[in-house]
Amino acid sequence: MFDLVTAPTRAKLADGRDLLFFALPGHRPAPVEDRRPLPPRDPDQSQLRFDFSTGQWVIVAAQRQDRTYKPPADQCPLCPGPTGLTSEVPAPDYDVVVFENRFPSLSGAGRPASVPAGAGFASAPAHGRCEVVCYSSDHSGSFAALPPAHARLVVEAWRQRTAELMATPGVEQVFCFENRGEEIGVTLSHPHGQIYGYPFLTPRTATMLARAREHRMRHGGNLFADLLAREVADGARVVGRTELFTAFVPFAARWPVEVHIYPNRFVRNLVELDDGELDGLARMYLDVLGRFDRMYSGPLPYISALHQYADTHAQADGYFHIELMSIRRSATKLKYLAASESAMDAFISDVTPEAVAARLRELS
Ligand SMILES: [Zn+2]
Repeated sequence: MFDLVTAPTRAKLADGRDLLFFALPGHRPAPVEDRRPLPPRDPDQSQLRFDFSTGQWVIVAAQRQDRTYKPPADQCPLCPGPTGLTSEVPAPDYDVVVFENRFPSLSGAGRPASVPAGAGFASAPAHGRCEVVCYSSDHSGSFAALPPAHARLVVEAWRQRTAELMATPGVEQVFCFENRGEEIGVTLSHPHGQIYGYPFLTPRTATMLARAREHRMRHGGNLFADLLAREVADGARVVGRTELFTAFVPFAARWPVEVHIYPNRFVRNLVELDDGELDGLARMYLDVLGRFDRMYSGPLPYISALHQYADTHAQADGYFHIELMSIRRSATKLKYLAASESAMDAFISDVTPEAVAARLRELS
């Protein structure tokens, strides 16, 4: 199934990291040599530590304190660098590129991190992968502003990376995501997202899969498919729906703005979507992001999370979908995760999901 995925043009950065170019039809990537004197990479730069009180891994990546922080626009490491001396993307131009993060939380190859027994102190190498996805060479652009064919190319890049990383030994979960906006701590304004290949199942995914397994045992059927059907039948929180995709504010939304996008057909990940569905996903995603940016006078800060599942027994109940969320709760106010949310994981929302959905529907 994986060979259906488009092959990118591959290059190497000065310290050996992978760089992949994804091109629009008619464009041919022309990478130049990366001539920067980069220090060698440290294969053991971060560590996993197990929290026995919650059963969750914590990634300790102390070296990331030194990473590039809000550089001026003329020193942006994600803008094309035709000289090979200034940028993470040594090329005169590009459409979409993916490269290994220079300051990764997870790196190197190994085995998945198995849950330790007992109590006390348990650690493991933080193997895995951290990649950066540059959506466009236009420094001042955004995903929402991409033409549909270009957005579709980003989807293709996500899909190719998903296929390759899911087939990488030691990677248990592939997570494509975007943090957008200074309000949520983005240190580079150039439009980009990231991809993590975790050596363990993340806590939220593990919880969701356990819920789905329990649902199947008790009621039969897929939990996520049933939730989607309920949302469609109710309709009060649906933001957009096509033949192939549905976007809705979930009944128990946790964030001031929260939208989930589901394919109408059950698949576990992007690799299982067909060409028509990949086109439909790009269009629906652009539609939702466009509504987000029309909510207030400025662009909406958001987190975009692609929930993907491997084709394995343990992840068989996972239903691919995208969860988008924003911390903006009014034109002038942000939601902060305070005691109830941070300490107890009990979210309190100041708005009804139905009101947010009605507002988003108006913004077409
Ligand atoms: Zn830039």
